[in-house]
Amino acid sequence: MPARAPAILALDFDGVLCDGMREYVESAWRACRRLGAGAPPEPPAGLFESFARLRPLVESGWEMTAVVHALQAGAAPATLEQDWRPEAWLADLPATREAATAALDRVRDEWIAADERGWLESHRFYPGVVERLRGLVAGPVAVHVITTKEGRFARQLLRRQGVELPAGRVLGKEARRPKRATLRELVAGGDAARMWFVEDRLATLRDVTAEPALAGASLFLAAWGYNTPKEREAAGRDGRIVLLALDRFAADFPAWLEG
Ligand SMILES: [Mg+2]
Repeated sequence: MPARAPAILALDFDGVLCDGMREYVESAWRACRRLGAGAPPEPPAGLFESFARLRPLVESGWEMTAVVHALQAGAAPATLEQDWRPEAWLADLPATREAATAALDRVRDEWIAADERGWLESHRFYPGVVERLRGLVAGPVAVHVITTKEGRFARQLLRRQGVELPAGRVLGKEARRPKRATLRELVAGGDAARMWFVEDRLATLRDVTAEPALAGASLFLAAWGYNTPKEREAAGRDGRIVLLALDRFAADFPAWLEG
């Protein structure tokens, strides 16, 4: 029987707290141009919709440049969905993972320097999330944000909403380890059952279920995030994972477990 409330609450950022779809498309487009792909200055019509459909495929930022390049090259979203090969598309750009990651970070830094307000406003927090976070930050639960983007970008977006987490509680890609390793460290020396983790990517949750040290942790798939109906169904059938709706996230912890 899991505890009725966590001592440690680990939250993914994109697709759980914040929807930055407009920003991802724009930044990935600019990064592709930066990487030398012969792309026109403005994203073509329909890119946003196709990208949004494919966003569940993305684990890390560099893959977003692969999505944009594949779509720009004329690949059909349905084909990419069935057979997603980000490394191959990146090689086709051509770029390496490191170059794509660096280009994306640089594009973001330049956008923020030129138009911070426009950058911030290309993101929106999901309804009720900011209020929930503000309530949590003032309480006894240790809230951690674990993201595959640079931690400073997530921190800046949270700060804008008046959510200031203590130092070290926003763990981004600068941590250079998979989320399961970060989670393992968070519970090191303690009881994993004290930790709850909310994530919108099913594959990441599945990876966590393979970690013996995290066997007692409660795992939630954010139904409102970047995942597909098929993945939500699979999560619903998975005894280890709880499919969480946004209204439950906004409610008190015991409601989260009332499947
Ligand atoms: Mg996510």
